[in-house]
Amino acid sequence: MVEIARDLRVKGTDLWLDSRRRKDFCFISHSHLDHAAKHKKILATAPTVELYRHRRGRVEAVTVAFNERLGVGEVAVTLFSAGHVLGSSQILIEGRTRTVYTGDFKLRQSETAEPIEIKQCDLLIMECTYGHPRYRFPTRDEICDRLEGFVRGNLRRGVTPVVFAYSLGKAQEAMKIIGDYGYELAVDRSVYDIARIYEQFGVEFGPYALLTDDGVRGQVVISTPFGRVRDRLKPIRRLRTVFLTGWAIDGRSEFMSAVDEAIAFSDHADFYDLLEYVKRAKPSMIYTTHGPKEFAGILRSEGFQAEHVVSHQQLRLDL
Ligand SMILES: [Zn+2]
Repeated sequence: MVEIARDLRVKGTDLWLDSRRRKDFCFISHSHLDHAAKHKKILATAPTVELYRHRRGRVEAVTVAFNERLGVGEVAVTLFSAGHVLGSSQILIEGRTRTVYTGDFKLRQSETAEPIEIKQCDLLIMECTYGHPRYRFPTRDEICDRLEGFVRGNLRRGVTPVVFAYSLGKAQEAMKIIGDYGYELAVDRSVYDIARIYEQFGVEFGPYALLTDDGVRGQVVISTPFGRVRDRLKPIRRLRTVFLTGWAIDGRSEFMSAVDEAIAFSDHADFYDLLEYVKRAKPSMIYTTHGPKEFAGILRSEGFQAEHVVSHQQLRLDL
């Protein structure tokens, strides 16, 4: 059903899946840059196409809604929600078997991404970034409380709270959470532009403005941790920073040493949600990618057939 030359390709078609190399036609699960190389034509949901064009420029696109079935060569493909960021999707490929490729996904509730759907399948190709038992993320309520406590405590002392989050997805989720508590926000350009796209698709935020050289007055800053951070924050005299990342669990983020605090807030499933996903999808074979190879062994000990692939190149399927 799926075959590999250098990346994943749907067998018997010219459709590739999240290829990191330029292709004529590629399914894009979401527009994080590690899943969205510059292609000639893409297959994706409307928000993903819009976000892709914002980040990668013009592209020909086949746009489909969740659960709209599309014939591609000898198979049918269906995109359905991954719960990772707005518009993020998994893909179901139906031919002789049912194959699901997840892309990045999350089971936890999100205010800015559609809830995940899990479909039963024969073959599952799943990302397992946090596939180790030490990754148990706090509940959403715990994350919201901690974030609001950080914001409130610093504002009370006249210190500007600065929240670092990936500019697509997590930054908008942080905007939504903090904005819904009634705080005003100043966000950097990359976060701002993507928030405007989210609004086009019906996500509503509280008051927010673009972070400028004039500095801030009682606002909460939300910024990507990448790029010219020091320049961006220069106009702010007293500040304290928090970084939102799943790697906060073990302090393994490259940015951890550069921030005052970190909260284990991720757009990925934690270990326990990865297991939950597999139990609900009931696949007869699982290929795990993007995470620790031990996760496939854990799945085998739970009674599943599973194998880890370090890169897509190693995956050769003919089902
Ligand atoms: Zn992602």
